[in-house]
Amino acid sequence: METVEVIIIGSGPAGYAAALYAARAQLKPLVLAGEKGGGQLMLTTQVENYPGFKDGVMGPDLMAVMRQQAEKFGAVMKDQNVDKVDFSRQPLTVVSGEIEYQGEAVILTTGAESIPLGVPGESDYIGRGVSYCAVCDAPFFKDKRVVVVGGGDAAVEDTLALTKFTAKISLIHRRDQFRASKIMQARVLGQKDKVEVLWESQVVKVTGDEKHVTSVTVKNIKTGQVQEIPAQGLFVAIGHRPATEFLKGQVALDEKDYVKTSINYPEGQSWLKGYPTMTSVPGVFAGGDNVDFRYRQAVTAAGMGVMAALDAEKWLEGL
Ligand SMILES: Cc1cc2nc3c(=O)[nH]c(=O)nc-3n(C[C@H](O)[C@H](O)[C@H](O)COP(=O)(O)OP(=O)(O)OC[C@H]3O[C@@H](n4cnc5c(N)ncnc54)[C@H](O)[C@@H]3O)c2cc1C
Repeated sequence: METVEVIIIGSGPAGYAAALYAARAQLKPLVLAGEKGGGQLMLTTQVENYPGFKDGVMGPDLMAVMRQQAEKFGAVMKDQNVDKVDFSRQPLTVVSGEIEYQGEAVILTTGAESIPLGVPGESDYIGRGVSYCAVCDAPFFKDKRVVVVGGGDAAVEDTLALTKFTAKISLIHRRDQFRASKIMQARVLGQKDKVEVLWESQVVKVTGDEKHVTSVTVKNIKTGQVQEIPAQGLFVAIGHRPATEFLKGQVALDEKDYVKTSINYPEGQSWLKGYPTMTSVPGVFAGGDNVDFRYRQAVTAAGMGVMAALDAEKWLEGL
């Protein structure tokens, strides 16, 4: 058993930023980085909206530097997954395989995963036409034709964001009406010159020329009719899954399994005031995409990681 002051679980922008701040505060944080360290940006190529890089930066390069920066100040990284936690008493217990760690504070930065379509070709072209983040990638598709998949607010918002850049958008939805709010629906349906909606349809294949996406094949669920849409981009907006399965029953989660803090649920939190990133358990903090269903950006995740580290530091001082 190893006992430390702060344990950080997860190693995306939120985890590394939390580690940097906790390390500079002399808390010698232990980062259980997961077997797939670096988080979602490891899946992408060019990141153009992380401040400080005027020519952009490759996602994996950014994550490697973030890790080195936190290590330089004393953060200890272990590339292990956390399987379970016991937050019922202090010190807080975190278990990875056979190894048990104890910490006075724990910071949860386990992120989220975009739900993929799971169709042939999709995973081959991530970052080369296939995107899960319109805010991040829309400017790469100037005057191009793209396909968007989904029917909720995210898909409709992504489509609207893309209309500013792209030549034409095919919005694919498997039902005959959207789940998105009426006002957003009206906005997207009003863009008739740019947006065509293919109802009751699903994407069945993504095709490319090895370098980029060249077409997206769509099937009508009712008629069975198949069409190949020439397109350079596929934006998948069918939802996110926060990596919080192992936290069930340990901290309060919302109905979609996001960790509740008073940042994402400012009303009605009865737990300790003055610690915006604290979860329902004293001493357990959270930040990044496992909390954030709204912004989902690397820089906002890093910012929340920093907030969680500062809150943990203040909380530890008060112990
Ligand atoms: C393809 C793609 C491109 C993107 N492009 C951009 C962009 O250009 N600009 C931008 O701002 N944002 C972009 N995003 C979004 C951005 O990557 C996320 O908002 C950001 O990474 C969230 O950071 P995070 O630290 O909260 O979580 P994540 O990056 O999801 O990292 C969480 C980490 O925790 C680990 N973990 C999970 N569970 C456990 C466990 N039980 N034990 C140990 N470790 C665990 C995971 O393996 C992962 O390494 C992109 C996302 C994707 C998928």
